[in-house]
Parts: sequence; C-alpha cells; structure tokens
Amino acid sequence: MRLVVVGCAGSYPSADSACSAYLVQVDDGAGRTWTVLLDLGNGALGPLQRFWNVRDIDAIALTHLHADHVADMAVLAVARRYRPDGPLPPLPVWGPDGTADRLIQLAGTDDPAASTGAQFDVHVWDPATSVPVGPLTLTAVPMNHSVPCFGVRVSGPAEGSPGSSGATVTLCYTGDTDAGPGLDALADDADLLLAEAAFREGRDDAFRGVHLTARRAAQAATRGGTRHLVLTHIPAWNDPLVAEAEARSAYTGLVSRAVPGARFLL
Ligand SMILES: [Zn+2]
Ligand SMILES: [Zn+2]
Repeated sequence: MRLVVVGCAGSYPSADSACSAYLVQVDDGAGRTWTVLLDLGNGALGPLQRFWNVRDIDAIALTHLHADHVADMAVLAVARRYRPDGPLPPLPVWGPDGTADRLIQLAGTDDPAASTGAQFDVHVWDPATSVPVGPLTLTAVPMNHSVPCFGVRVSGPAEGSPGSSGATVTLCYTGDTDAGPGLDALADDADLLLAEAAFREGRDDAFRGVHLTARRAAQAATRGGTRHLVLTHIPAWNDPLVAEAEARSAYTGLVSRAVPGARFLL
C-alpha cells in the first residue's frame, strides 16, 4: 500500500500546498492499481493530476463536509462531466449524512451543474459496514470534530506483496478531530496514522472538540502502538517544526510530516 500526499495544508491552502487530499493505492496480483482518494479539499484537483489521472480513481472517501476537505469535488465533477471524449461514469463516493446535498450546493444552482448524480454515486458512511474497494477495505470511525466527521481505516496488502497471501497493513486517517475514542480506535495497531495537528499546545488549549495538537495525536499513537505517525493539516500560521517537536515529546516511534508529493510505503 502506498500513500501519496496531494495536499496537506490545514484549514486553508498555503503558498506551498492545497488543502487535504491523499491518494491511497495498491497493486493487485493482476497488475491493476486500485486508487482511493481521501478527501478533496480546495486547490487539490490541480496537484492531484501530477500524481494520478482523474479517470482512474476507484472511490473517494470524504471525512466531513468542511470546504478544506470537499471543495474541489465541484470542479472534479466538471472535469469528469465535460471531457471531449464524453463523460465518465459515476464515481463511488462515501461521506457523512448530507454529502449529496453538499455536493449540489458546491456545484451551484445552474442546470445541469446542480445534478451531480451523474458524476458521483454517493453513499453515507456506516461505521458498522466496511467498504471493499478491490483489495482495500475502508472502515469509517466517528471522530470528535465541530461537525460530523469520520476517520478512515484502510486495510490492504503490504507494498510488494500483492494477492491474498501477503501481509496486510493498515493506514488510518483522522480527518479533523480532537482526542477521543475515535482517535484511539484509529491509532490502535496502525502501521501508519495520518493525523491532523492543527492546534498548538499552550495556544489553543481552550478549544476542545475541534482539532488535535501534535502532542495529543502522539499520545494516542503511543497508547495504540502506532508504528509510524505522519502529521498533517498543519495550518500555514503554525510552525511545523513546533508540531514535530510536540509529537516527539509524546511518542518515541517514527514521526514524519506530510508535504505535497511525499510518498509513504506500507
Ligand atoms: Zn480541516
Ligand atoms: Zn473540519
């Protein structure tokens, strides 16, 4: 399994990065690459095309409906619909309750832009039911954010071991969240925890139930035995080195920081 960081800026795009978007890919035994896109925040459709063809996405997993996680769905619909060689078939999308209405709202009210059903086949997350996408399995986990948000646990074959006989690895993505049972569930035995770290210790302590500090993410990683912690969603007004230092103060495992174009192999 591979993780490719398309965009990782927290809350609004930075000069160097679009907002949240991540490719998770795995090759099956027949040589086909399966691709899931985790979130598609504002600005992310552009850089996405550096890493993958928008024709060849198998599913999109949306953690929640804030603009920095879904805004570019509106322009992805345009890119899929008005191709000179004809529109692409509907793309499976999983998201929280209200996702279909949010996509229509983003598209605008002019007909036919308002009918996003031809571009997206929208499903509502059910944490009790995992979603298979080729050799990958997606499981939604309710998180602790200011609006309904689902972290995503992605399980599938380890890189270099396609087919059913190889080792299985798990990549977990928090979306936006504060600490809580959802975060602990994701961190539990994760090979890679892609954790937001939008807040800073000491500065944002009064605001709970919205975002993590890198230290709170790291504490969960320690409790859960996470093997690799990747910090992301750090807003441009934060010093990322402070976030890294916070994480290292509470977790002795491998700590990385998401940057556009970074690839992580599991
Ligand atoms: Zn966000
Ligand atoms: Zn959010």
